[in-house]
Amino acid sequence: MASIKDYRPIVGRSVIEELELLAAHLKGVVVQNINSTAVGGGVAEILTRFIPLLRELGVDARWDVIKGDRRFFEVTKKFHNALHGREEEIPDGIYEFFLNEGARIIDETDIYGDIVVVHDPQPIMLVRKKRRDGKKWVWRCHVDIAHADKRVFAFLKQFIMKYDGVIFSSPLFSRRLALRQFLISPSIDPLSDKNKEIPQETIDSVLKKYGVKRDKPVITQVSRFDYLKDPVGVIDAFNLVKKYNDCQLVLAGNSAADDPESDKVLSEVREKACRDPDIHILLIPPEQNDIDINALQRASTVIIQKSIREGFGLVVSEALWKAKPVVASAVGGIPLQVEHQRGGLLCRSVEGSARAVRQLLNNPEYAGWLGRNGKEHIRQNFLLTRHLRDYMLLFIALYHGEDIIHL
Ligand code: UDP
Repeated sequence: MASIKDYRPIVGRSVIEELELLAAHLKGVVVQNINSTAVGGGVAEILTRFIPLLRELGVDARWDVIKGDRRFFEVTKKFHNALHGREEEIPDGIYEFFLNEGARIIDETDIYGDIVVVHDPQPIMLVRKKRRDGKKWVWRCHVDIAHADKRVFAFLKQFIMKYDGVIFSSPLFSRRLALRQFLISPSIDPLSDKNKEIPQETIDSVLKKYGVKRDKPVITQVSRFDYLKDPVGVIDAFNLVKKYNDCQLVLAGNSAADDPESDKVLSEVREKACRDPDIHILLIPPEQNDIDINALQRASTVIIQKSIREGFGLVVSEALWKAKPVVASAVGGIPLQVEHQRGGLLCRSVEGSARAVRQLLNNPEYAGWLGRNGKEHIRQNFLLTRHLRDYMLLFIALYHGEDIIHL
């Protein structure tokens, strides 16, 4: 696993020195992260690399995962969708169920951190354990709540307001709240198995394993099978592209422990694909996940992310870091990552995404230029080192009420 000094050639020495300086201010502070899944989805992806690197820097960071059963995660998935603005039927009993299950989770969870970072709505109720003991509580919201369902947001607000601060991924997601708000975008790890350089033989063997030939361009979307990632819309767009350009589509996905909807979405996707041999629906086994996703992204001609809503969309940064031309919906955190017509193409519809994919397939030089620009944008803004710095600054700020802190 990469060590902090391995990032020096990628981001420069001064960035690493700054991290060491900030970490020195956090000696002895225990930072406890709590979320609801150890694998699957962007939060787990980030914490997996974040925790060991913070520890190497000397910050005592730890990670706990709450346990919930299928019913609990069905309820929190409804909250998740409703916060993203998707229409969800939320019967009254659901709130009571969440509170009852929440009481069990509160009982089961040991709070030992000096700083407690609670990720997303599933464990949000833990803040009820907050005491007047100087511990700092932060709610890290990975969801785009700009269009949140009013009732669900009002219900969750009773917990949110107990925190000392809340972190959003983009300024567009923040709300008027009478508590401190911090803006920190997520990041990718350039040295993880998911993103590091890999030899061509590895890429070839992964393609062979999944039966993807390189005889025609490959368009890929990597995502959990989730309605908000719109895999069915991707197939619609692909079918439009295919009328003019011979190409193939890869839909690679997995599911997360806290997402009970994926089987349903997957069967709809399979039905939509109608056994078209040019559509590869790949369920990636967890043990080989990272290298396989890395290889599939690198083997792609164009990467698409046609989300309807998106918290951030780490997959977009992952694709750009591999200098791939990207077509992505202008939702959530995606426009932060894709500067339209400079570092990728943004779209808003099936037809728009099909048109953008065709433009890239027909203009490989332009596509290459967009990919190279996109990569540089990710280097400057969305690598793990910037994220570590922002978090450490936030941790320090929690002990200071003033706006400017002199270190
Ligand atoms: N991912 C993966 N395997 C899959 C599908 C997705 O490893 O089969 C990863 C993907 O590479 C990315 C993360 O899961 O690192 C998804 O994060 P994103 O922010 O794009 O979406 P989320 O799932 O958190 O909504």
